[in-house]
Amino acid sequence: MTCADYRAKRLTDMAQRARIEAYSPLVCDGGSWRIPWASRTHQGAFAMPIGIYKRPSLKERFWAKVDKGGLNDCWIWTGGKSTAGYGLISVNGKMAYAHRSAYELLVGSIPEGLQLDHLCRNPSCVNPEHLEAVTSQQNILRGEGATAQHARATHCPQGHPYNLVNTYYPPDGSRECRTCREERRA
Ligand SMILES: [Zn+2]
Ligand SMILES: [Zn+2]
Repeated sequence: MTCADYRAKRLTDMAQRARIEAYSPLVCDGGSWRIPWASRTHQGAFAMPIGIYKRPSLKERFWAKVDKGGLNDCWIWTGGKSTAGYGLISVNGKMAYAHRSAYELLVGSIPEGLQLDHLCRNPSCVNPEHLEAVTSQQNILRGEGATAQHARATHCPQGHPYNLVNTYYPPDGSRECRTCREERRA
């Protein structure tokens, strides 16, 4: 197909246009959109009328999906969500967590290897005031999982206190009740 044919088809056949767009992600190089595989001379032939193709920025798409309350309120993500309830947004063609995007948009880049912990325990919240960058271990211990609940417990399942005298720390880093250990051995 020649460029002229392609251009004509592109202007008349909406289905074709949608298909081609699906296979040729447009690249934004500082203001104007271009098709990566088209040569420099042909970019003009493929040039797209502004208004039809101009895609909203990440910022625009992000704020369009946020039910933003006050500074201290949870800002609820109204767009797509993961099964765990975390907001999802497309960033550079890949799905990303909306709360991570929020942090990057409003706070700064997330230090490598760190996760964002929701201090408000509301996974769909994207208020960066409610997010703290922590290690995955910190995140697990703060969560609602079994490890976290065990780590927070002040007494063993039998009701013995986890105090200085009664607590045994096995080499694996876990925690055991000495009274129960002795009862198991007896
Ligand atoms: Zn929140
Ligand atoms: Zn015990």
